[in-house]
Amino acid sequence: MDFTLTRQQEMLRETVHQFAESELSPKAIELDETGEFPFDILKRCAEMGLVGIITPREYGGTGMGHLARVIVIEEISRVYPPLGFFFQTGHLGQWSVQEYGTEEQKKKYLPPLCKGEMIMCDAITEASGGSNPAACQTTAQLVGDEFVINGRKVYITLAGVADVALILAKTDDKFNEILVEKGTAGFEIVRRENISGFRTTPVNEMAFTNCRVPKSNLVGQEGKGLSIGLAAVSMLGRTGVAGIGLGIARGCYEAALNFAKERKLYGKPIGELQAIQFALAEMNMDIEATKWVSYYSAWQIDQGKGIREVGADIARAKFLACELANRVAPRAMQIMGAYGLSEEYHMTRLLRDALHLFPAAGTQEIMKITIGRSILA
Ligand SMILES: Cc1cc2nc3c(=O)[nH]c(=O)nc-3n(C[C@H](O)[C@H](O)[C@H](O)COP(=O)(O)OP(=O)(O)OC[C@H]3O[C@@H](n4cnc5c(N)ncnc54)[C@H](O)[C@@H]3O)c2cc1C
Repeated sequence: MDFTLTRQQEMLRETVHQFAESELSPKAIELDETGEFPFDILKRCAEMGLVGIITPREYGGTGMGHLARVIVIEEISRVYPPLGFFFQTGHLGQWSVQEYGTEEQKKKYLPPLCKGEMIMCDAITEASGGSNPAACQTTAQLVGDEFVINGRKVYITLAGVADVALILAKTDDKFNEILVEKGTAGFEIVRRENISGFRTTPVNEMAFTNCRVPKSNLVGQEGKGLSIGLAAVSMLGRTGVAGIGLGIARGCYEAALNFAKERKLYGKPIGELQAIQFALAEMNMDIEATKWVSYYSAWQIDQGKGIREVGADIARAKFLACELANRVAPRAMQIMGAYGLSEEYHMTRLLRDALHLFPAAGTQEIMKITIGRSILA
């Protein structure tokens, strides 16, 4: 059993860490205030090879893999979680096309996605309930060589800035994943969801009214849409949430640790108070434990394991990292006293983003159901 990261993964972590400290951290508060998607930062990430991290070189990616991706998301989310959230969701459609798409689709979409010149969103959830995607009401009726799409999708990350959407729709009694490009008649972004976190990564509602796309926009085999969509959400979405949760927890813990070394009470740093040491030690143990569960799940995907083999491990990582972020953030804030509430110290911003991890890529209850099924099988 080898727990060491490769030299490439270590270097990647260092590079992204430096990027986050020097280019993201100074802008974080301003970015959140404007709420506008940072296209320039996306371009920078693409130049660094981060957007194409899971995509093979032949399609413009860097092919560093899933563990490398979690490390990137963790380092970015330690400082600015909405950008981690971009990677968490932006990779869903990208991965689906690269795993299941036709050669033509791969050549058309993957290189511009990797270059940050195109954004793809992944639309499964509907008002009928995200936990039960089989209740999908959006239809894609085959008429000649075209799908005619009707329906609505809610809570779709990046839809407002996406150039193309990969959507789940029903053709008769079968599920299909279909690409719909921005500007296609009958496809519109209805509104931006009014959520309190992930401010620069828009989450939108979208509508389709007699929207016609060529049959060649089908991704994967006809009728396999639900399993493709769920595989993407499980493998990419949940490992992505694990990376964000880890990053938020580390960002908060490290801020509290520094504060405990600097803040003096009774003539000495508060880090010398045993109650504070215990809190820091508990956060530290919590982060280390969750880190290895998360890395292990992503590492298994890199070893070629599929959703059936690794689904429960990924669900553990998603569940634990989500709880971790939401446990560590308020605790770190308390160590910082009133300063923890000041925007300057970033804690409130990180906690706000942490709350959004609970439903993203499947709720905590759905994670327990996945784990429960696996241990009883
Ligand atoms: C910030 C954010 C970004 C998102 N981005 C996307 C995206 O890009 N694409 C996309 O398709 N979706 C996206 N979603 C939607 C997300 O996948 C859903 O919110 C999630 O699947 C839960 O669905 P729901 O909100 O409809 O809750 P529901 O499914 O209605 O669940 C309500 C409650 O019932 C519980 N529950 C459901 N079933 C069971 C069960 N069998 N046993 C016990 N309890 C159960 C749930 O855990 C939850 O507590 C996003 C959501 C958020 C918050």
